[in-house]
Amino acid sequence: MTKDSATRPIRIALPNKGRLSERALRLFEQAGLKPASLASRALMADLGDNFQAIFVRAADIPEYVADGAAALGVTGSDLVLESGRDVTELLDLGFGRCRLAVATKEESGVTRASDLPSGTRVATSFPRIARNYFESIGVEIKIAPMSGAVEIAPHLGIADVIVDLVSTGSTLRMNGLCEIETVLESSARLVASPSALADSTVRTAIDELSTALDSVLQAEEKRYLMANVPKARLDEVRAVIPGLSGPTIVEVLDSGEWVAAHAVVDADRVYQTIGTLKALGAEGILVTRIERLMP
Ligand code: AMP
Repeated sequence: MTKDSATRPIRIALPNKGRLSERALRLFEQAGLKPASLASRALMADLGDNFQAIFVRAADIPEYVADGAAALGVTGSDLVLESGRDVTELLDLGFGRCRLAVATKEESGVTRASDLPSGTRVATSFPRIARNYFESIGVEIKIAPMSGAVEIAPHLGIADVIVDLVSTGSTLRMNGLCEIETVLESSARLVASPSALADSTVRTAIDELSTALDSVLQAEEKRYLMANVPKARLDEVRAVIPGLSGPTIVEVLDSGEWVAAHAVVDADRVYQTIGTLKALGAEGILVTRIERLMP
């Protein structure tokens, strides 16, 4: 342990704007770390007693974390890879999903990246990833580095193809481009600085935070379901709501024909689960959200 690591707040770099910022902040709030007095243009805010958020560009976060200026960061895995910096990935946070893809002009007729001729000009804000990708498939390219509006480059004759982020593909289509290859899938990650992880006091706090964030993410995919079910159908009910380790069965103070069954169920199957329980004679069905889940 370093001398003052027990007293200094642990710094977390969060995206200050853009696609990842709102969801990242909400996730920390859900885990119980709400920024204290967050003015809209604040560059720093305390997060509980042990942490301090700094708000910086998502693309700069791998640098802050690799240099140890922040112990932790939240940013896209695409940006981590493009930075080429050494950070440790702790959690896939599941949001900010997109893919980095190769796209050509619709009329080019090329359907595979490996069919592109040597000397192809590639416009991209991901020069490192693009270079590595084309090298791996044996196509020699020239990079035209750009920081945005990459889709326009093929139409201006600056490039033949682009390597850019896509989520639905509608922006590409709108710009007369056609996706021919996926280079990588990306999502937001919690990353840590190797130097912070080497300090045992800091490491313990980071592990606790990571567990808290993970419990919020796991809870989002689940619901807590309660229903009164006929005792006679209990075996069938158990098959429908197995829960984490079998449903909890609670006595109902009536003639003895009913019990209450409680279980954690998959959020995306709640609709079907309710239908099946009803068919088994269930009544008084109640479904609630879960704040945290640590199986
Ligand atoms: P920003 O430029 O600050 O909006 O952040 C961009 C980051 O958000 C990217 O590097 C990705 O990790 C993520 N992202 C998620 N979906 C998309 C998308 N459709 N286009 C661009 N970036 C996306």
